Amino acid sequence: MHAATYNGGVNSSSHPLLNADLHCHSVISDGTLTPEALAERAQRNGVELWALTDHDEVGGIARARQAARDLKLPFLSGVEVSVTFLRKTVHIVGLGFDDTHPLLVQGLANTRGGRAARAQEMAAGLAKVGIQGAYEGALQFVGNPDLISRTHFARFLVERGICQDTHEVFRRYLTEGKPGFVPHQWATLRDAVQWIHVAGGMAVIAHPGRYGFTANEEFALFTEFKALGGRGVEVVTGSHTTDEYVTYADMALEFGLLASRGSDFHSPDESHTELGTLPYLSGRLTPVWDALSNRIVH
Ligand code: AMP
Ligand code: MN
Ligand code: MN
Ligand code: MN
Repeated sequence: MHAATYNGGVNSSSHPLLNADLHCHSVISDGTLTPEALAERAQRNGVELWALTDHDEVGGIARARQAARDLKLPFLSGVEVSVTFLRKTVHIVGLGFDDTHPLLVQGLANTRGGRAARAQEMAAGLAKVGIQGAYEGALQFVGNPDLISRTHFARFLVERGICQDTHEVFRRYLTEGKPGFVPHQWATLRDAVQWIHVAGGMAVIAHPGRYGFTANEEFALFTEFKALGGRGVEVVTGSHTTDEYVTYADMALEFGLLASRGSDFHSPDESHTELGTLPYLSGRLTPVWDALSNRIVH
């Protein structure tokens, strides 16, 4: 540690012991708070570097950036891109890109495009097990008509009293083999990484512990991601257990990847990790923000 540079100011952004939260969602995707409310909440919780990472959508970035600037909260643009890899859905976070870059904006628009038809099919699957009106019901929870997601269906089924909480909905209705699950082809890993790169950003593998890959499949993901120029991996995330913080710290070092940290906060009412409350990254890791200092908006 270089105590002289760890002063809580601008230089602290190049230190692992930074309360960075580089993964969360607003009403622009499947979160329940506005970008402005998230910025305030992040600052209240002591976040020192913040990124908004809505699913497949950068439409909230300008608002988030302005809100962060007003609060003097250091900010990075962000997105969480849905990718299909080895027939599973993988999420790739982009950080520090130009959120107006046409190739990124168009690529994300294409990725989002299939969501409405998928949602209709999900509703048809749910209707078969006696849950009527799920498409219209889910839409009531949608902040961005372009981005209807499983989360919105989950909120509707909880409101209907069919399940106690959204986790139960996913377990019983919205995961592979369950009545409301519809397989979907998202972006390729190559396209997702290239859209982020062409817009000047850094690609980061989101919550690798969540995919249920075998060791070989996970090795394939990390190897292909590195070969495409991907540079980071989430190590400390609300989706990982404390054991997984260690597993993926080791993986980051093995693959020469920078480490990221983010809560994946969606809503104060759902039991996701609160913004800015995760443990720090281990001092043996190099944080993603070391390589993004010229992208941070102060
Ligand atoms: P979609 O992009 O429509 O497939 O929805 C994926 C979103 O569903 C994720 O980003 C999470 O917010 C949410 N999600 C996935 N699995 C679960 C789960 N087991 N419990 C609660 N939310 C989940
Ligand atoms: Mn989500
Ligand atoms: Mn995710
Ligand atoms: Mn997320």
